[in-house]
Amino acid sequence: MSKTTEQIEISERRSAHNYHPLPIVIHEAHGAWVTDVEGKRYLDFLSGYSSLNFGHGNEKIIEAAQEQLRNLTLTSRAFYHDQFARFAAGLGDLTGKDMILPMNTGAEAVETAIKVSRKWGYEVKGVAAEQANIIVMEDNFHGRTTTIVSFSTDPDARTNFGPYTPGFKIVKYGSAEAIREAIDANTVAVLVEPIQGEAGVLVPPDGYLTQVREICTENNVLMIADEIQSGLGRTGKTFACDHEGVVPDIYVLGKALGGGVVPVSAIAADAGVLGVIKPGQHGSTFGGNPLACAVGNAVIDILNTGEFQERATRLGVILHERLATLVGKGVVTVRGRGLWAGVDIDPSLASGRQISEALMARGVLAKDTHGSTIRLAPPIVISEEDLLWAVDRLAETIESFQ
Ligand SMILES: *Cc1c(COP(=O)(O)O)cnc(C)c1O
Repeated sequence: MSKTTEQIEISERRSAHNYHPLPIVIHEAHGAWVTDVEGKRYLDFLSGYSSLNFGHGNEKIIEAAQEQLRNLTLTSRAFYHDQFARFAAGLGDLTGKDMILPMNTGAEAVETAIKVSRKWGYEVKGVAAEQANIIVMEDNFHGRTTTIVSFSTDPDARTNFGPYTPGFKIVKYGSAEAIREAIDANTVAVLVEPIQGEAGVLVPPDGYLTQVREICTENNVLMIADEIQSGLGRTGKTFACDHEGVVPDIYVLGKALGGGVVPVSAIAADAGVLGVIKPGQHGSTFGGNPLACAVGNAVIDILNTGEFQERATRLGVILHERLATLVGKGVVTVRGRGLWAGVDIDPSLASGRQISEALMARGVLAKDTHGSTIRLAPPIVISEEDLLWAVDRLAETIESFQ
C-alpha cells in the first residue's frame, strides 16, 4: 500500500468525516509549492482558504515564531506579556481603530463581534433588553458555532444543529435596499463579507459597501465587515472594504493574521464600541498569547510595507486576464478581485470536485465550492510564471472534459 493510501485510510477511519479532502497527503511546503509524502510537488492554489497569503514558511514569520518559541509561548491574559502591546497598537493602527480584542479562530472573532454589537446596542444605543437584532446576508459564511450556523442559509451547515440562536434577519447579499427594508429600531449591526468567499468569491455590485456604510450610519447601526478571508492583502488592498474607501465600525480578522503558523483572530473597533466590554465579560485562554502576537506582529510588519497588496494587485490583473480567456470554453463566469477568483465551470461538463481532482493530477491544488465553482487563491508570493503555468493546467483540465 502506498504511504498516501495508508494515511488516507487511517484518517478516514479514525476521524470524523466533516471534510472531504482531495486524496493528497502533504509533507512539506515552501512559498507556493507543497510536496506530498510520495515526493510529488504541487502548486498551492488554495492557501489554506487564504490563511497562507504570505506563503508557506515565510521567512520573516517563521523567524518571529522561532524566536518567540524560545522565549515565551503562553501567559493567559491573567498577566501582560511583552508582545501584546505591540500587537494591540499595531493592529489598531493597521485598521485605524482605537482598540482590538484578540481571539484564536475566525468563528470566535465573529462571535466576539456579535456579542460586542449586542452589548453596544443595549448599553449605548438603548435597545430594550433581549430585543437586539443583527442583519446578515444570504449565502454567508462566518464559521461553525451554534450561533453562527443559526443564521446560515446553507442546509449542510445548519440542518439538525438546532435549536437556533434567535436575533438575526437574513437579507439578500448585494442589495442595499434589502438592508434598508430590514432595519428597525432594534437593529444593532449589519454583518457582511465585503466579498463572499465560501459562497464562491461573490463580489457585490459597485457601491454596495458604500451604501451599507451610509445606511448603518443613518440608522445608528454598527457595520461589521468580516474580512477574515477577504482581508490582509488577498484582494490587492489591506482590506476588501478599501476598494470603496469604506471603513466599517468593526473589522473581523483571522486566517492570514496567523501567518499560516498559528490561529490568530481579532476584532478591531473604536473605544465607543469595544469599550463596552469589561473584565470577565468575554475572553479566551489562548487569545492574544505571546506566540500568536509575535506571529501577528510579523504579519502586520509585512502588511505595513504594502508589498503584498501591490503584488496581489499586479498578479491579480494577470490572473483575471488569463481566466477571462477561458470563458465560453467550459467556463461560464469568472469573478473575483486581486489574487482571488471564483470560476464557474459549465456544470454539464464536470462537477467542481471532478475538476479539482483532475487539476490535482496535473499538479495544482484548488478546491471546489458549491457544485461547479472552483476557488483560486494562490499564496501572494507566487511567481508570475507559476501563476500562468497553473492557469494553463486549469485550461487543459477543463479541455479534457470536453
Ligand atoms: C474562514 C472564515 C470564517 C471562520 O474562520 P475559522 O477560523 O474557520 O473559524 C469566518 N468568516 C469568513 C469570511 C471566513 O472565510
